[in-house]
Amino acid sequence: MANNDQDQFKKVLSHAKEYGYVFQSSEIYDGLQAVYDYGQNGVELKKNLREYWWQAMTQLNQDIVGLDAAIFMHPSTWKASGHVDAFNDPLIDNKDSKKRYRADVLVEDYCEKYLQKANKEVEKAAKRFGEDFDAAMYRETNPRVMGYLKQSKEPVELLAKLLEAEDLAGVKALIEELEIADPDTGSKNWTDVRQFNLMFGTKIGASADTATDLYLRPETAQGIFVNFSNVQKSGRMKIPFGIAQTGKAFRNEIVARQFIFRQREFEQMEMQYFVKPGTELEWFEVWKERRMAWHSSLGLGSENYRFHDHEKLAHYANAATDIEFDFPFGFKELEGIHSRTDFDLKAHEEHSGKKLQFFDHEENKNYVPYVIETSIGLDRMFLAIFSTSLVDETLEDGSERTVLKIPAVLAPVKAAILPLLKKDGLPEIAQDIIDDLKWSLKVQYDEKDAIGRRYRRQDANGTPYCVTIDHDTKEDNAVTVRDRDTMTQERIAIKDLKVYLEKRVAMSEWLRKI
Ligand code: ATP
Repeated sequence: MANNDQDQFKKVLSHAKEYGYVFQSSEIYDGLQAVYDYGQNGVELKKNLREYWWQAMTQLNQDIVGLDAAIFMHPSTWKASGHVDAFNDPLIDNKDSKKRYRADVLVEDYCEKYLQKANKEVEKAAKRFGEDFDAAMYRETNPRVMGYLKQSKEPVELLAKLLEAEDLAGVKALIEELEIADPDTGSKNWTDVRQFNLMFGTKIGASADTATDLYLRPETAQGIFVNFSNVQKSGRMKIPFGIAQTGKAFRNEIVARQFIFRQREFEQMEMQYFVKPGTELEWFEVWKERRMAWHSSLGLGSENYRFHDHEKLAHYANAATDIEFDFPFGFKELEGIHSRTDFDLKAHEEHSGKKLQFFDHEENKNYVPYVIETSIGLDRMFLAIFSTSLVDETLEDGSERTVLKIPAVLAPVKAAILPLLKKDGLPEIAQDIIDDLKWSLKVQYDEKDAIGRRYRRQDANGTPYCVTIDHDTKEDNAVTVRDRDTMTQERIAIKDLKVYLEKRVAMSEWLRKI
């Protein structure tokens, strides 16, 4: 991580804690690694984000319905899905630092570094050559850039082949050949690579001898697959249709040092879209576009997103891409979009003996539908928003402010209601305004400190609007509304305030941008 990225990441961590967004789990007992709690503001941001996804899926699309499957599932589920046998990550330990890493991530990070080097060279050249510069041509012809690009591609391709062949000795040899060092200590003294299953086991039942071994679900998708027929029949759904679900998933991650990016308990928002076999690649493109449109509507900046198509596909997939986001530690997967063929439904048919098919009246036949899956981590999206929104600004008068420019629709508090003074009837007017707004908006009263300090506090908290009641309010029945991002102020009649705010923060308004 570059130094300023590291600083930004540190800022994100401390701001998240200081403003009640994210706390380390069980902090008073020194915490539990890679498990986090969401504080008073975090829970609101997370809830709004979940809701924004949920409404975009199940309310804007007549052909998508929701589901809330249990976390516990019959153990055969995980045999059928392949998780018992193959939900592994290759792990490697450094003998000197005793630190544990994912072998594949070491290689991926190595390649990413070369990609960054190539991009830097191109940027430098663009500056040198000015307007006529052809970046694409430069990438294809400049020997240094070509060398970097080669190093950014070949090792991951080889890695994919080695993992496919389960050649773990080969993975270790690759790490040694690339001279990859422990990122923390620089040591190259590695152990062998081993496979590690990421599922958490647990037991259900009162007595030890009758208890059944279970797993905590490592993804929410299987709850959708096993309920395919229940939903299709009871909802009289016709292909194509989708089932959306949000919920907790659990993975015993090998390395979890990136805050809420990689946790052992996290939340997923997944949608499985069931289509007619043969049409899946068209739908795959449709869903790539739709998901990117959802992201764009939040306005975090298109330069922060990129598609990363999988060159090597899982055995059950015939197309896959990740939406990657520019986190403080570089571009990493935020969402996966996969064309999973009929692999899951067929596997559950085989293991359960029950049919998971659709009768197509037009074709007059039964078939097992193909599936396009969109899968996004709620916590990762939270981090994407939080880290991009947190900025330090120097104002015209030279003063500094820290502002959390969270999209207004997702902000925990939509407006702060601030009486200029704690007297002269101003708090009472503020209370009347709150009583009017609270039915549709989460607002917060604050009367402590000078108004400037209260503005700063709300900026840092991510509150998009501050509503100030002053002495003129008593005469003109109007308030001053200050915009968090532009800091401009407008005088608004109290009777128009609700509509004014709703127009700017309501989910229904933002959903129209998708
Ligand atoms: P990675 O390669 O980063 O481990 P993955 O490819 O295993 O991710 P998927 O199985 O495709 O991830 O899961 C779908 C989404 O769930 C991911 O895009 C990510 O946003 C989220 N996710 C996966 N694992 C975690 C985790 N440990 N903590 C937080 N979010 C996660």
